[in-house]
Amino acid sequence: MKKSQYSFSRLDLYERCPWAYKTVYLDRIPRAKNEARETGQLLHGLVADYLNRLIATGHPTDWDWARGATPKEALSDAIEMWNRFYETFAMPEGLGSPGVENRLAFDASWQPCEFFSEEAYFRMVIDFHFRQDSLGVIVDWKTNREVPQTVAKDLQLRTYGWGLKQALYPEIQEVLLRLHFLRYGKEREVMLISHDLAEVPDELEARIATIEVDKNYDPTPGSFCGLCGITPYCPVMSKALAPIEVLAPATREQAEKAASLLLTLQKMEKELAARLKEWVKENGPVQVGDLVYGPMEVVSYDLNTKAVVEFLLNEGLEREAVWPLLGITKTGLERGMKKLQRPDLLKRILSLSNHKTTERIDFRRNP
Ligand code: SF4
Repeated sequence: MKKSQYSFSRLDLYERCPWAYKTVYLDRIPRAKNEARETGQLLHGLVADYLNRLIATGHPTDWDWARGATPKEALSDAIEMWNRFYETFAMPEGLGSPGVENRLAFDASWQPCEFFSEEAYFRMVIDFHFRQDSLGVIVDWKTNREVPQTVAKDLQLRTYGWGLKQALYPEIQEVLLRLHFLRYGKEREVMLISHDLAEVPDELEARIATIEVDKNYDPTPGSFCGLCGITPYCPVMSKALAPIEVLAPATREQAEKAASLLLTLQKMEKELAARLKEWVKENGPVQVGDLVYGPMEVVSYDLNTKAVVEFLLNEGLEREAVWPLLGITKTGLERGMKKLQRPDLLKRILSLSNHKTTERIDFRRNP
C-alpha cells in the first residue's frame, strides 16, 4: 500500500473536519471551486513568475512585463491586488540564494528528499525566501481580508521556518517570517529562533498520529461547512435534509435539528449553484416547470453619483429627497475607508451618526 503523505494544508483540513480530510485526500474527491482559493492561487502564480523574472534579469522592477502578464479574465479584486503588488514591490539588491515557490520534501526521518519521490512523507512550498547573513527570510503572500495586529508563532509558520533551515540554509540562526498582505500592501513579521523550531517534527508527528489512528473521520459541522467544498458528500448534510418534525419544531431537540437543517441549506445553496452552473455551461439550460435555469443577459450601470445628484436637483427634486437615494451603508463605508487606508475615520463617522440597536437571530461562532 502507498505510504501516506502529508502537508500542512492536509493537517489543517483534518483539524477543521476529519470527514472533509478523508473525502478529499483518501477518497480523492475534488473540492468544489472556491473564489477565495482561486484568487489566492492566481496571485501566487503571478507573483512567482514576476519574482523569477526579476531574479533572472537582475532588475528591481519590470512594470512592462508585469502589465503584459495581467490576466484579461480575472476578477477585478485579483487584478487590483496584482497591480498594487508590482507597482509597489522592488527586488532588494544582493539577496543571498533567493528561491521562489521552492518545493521542499522530507522523508519519515525528517531528512530532505526529492519532492515527487516515493519516500516524501511531508511536503511544503515556500513562497519566497532568501538569506541575509545568519538570518533566513521567508515571505509568505496572503490574500486574506483580515490583517492581524500581531503574528502568532503557530505551527504552520514554525513548520516553514524549520523546513527552510533543515533543507536549504542549515547554518542560519534565526528565521524572519514576513507575511505580505497583497490586498492592502501591508506586512507583518515574526522572528523564529532555534527554540521555536526545535520541536516542529515532534509536533507534526503528533498531529499525523492522531489522523492515522482515526477510523471514523467524524464530520464536524460548523462555520467551515461553506468552505469545505465537499458538502454533497457529507453524511451530516444529507441526513439533515429528512425529518418532517424539524419543519415545525416543538421541542429543543427538534429545534436543534431545525437549526442544523437551516445551516445545511444555507451552506449547500452556494455549492449546489456552483456545480449546476458548471453543468449548464457545458450542457445548456435546464427546464424546471415553467422556468428555465440558464444563461441570460444582465445589464449593469456604473452610475456617477455626482452627475446623478446634479441631474435630479436640476429636475427640481429636493436635496433631502435625493440624499437617501445615494444609499451609503456601513459596510460600504467600512470597505471604502479600508481601501483608502483610513479605517480610523470609520469609528469617528459612526460616533457622529444616529444609530439604533435591533435584535437579529443568525448563526454565530462560539466565543
Ligand atoms: S459540510 Fe461541514 S461537516 Fe460536512 S464535510 Fe464539510 S465541513 Fe465537514
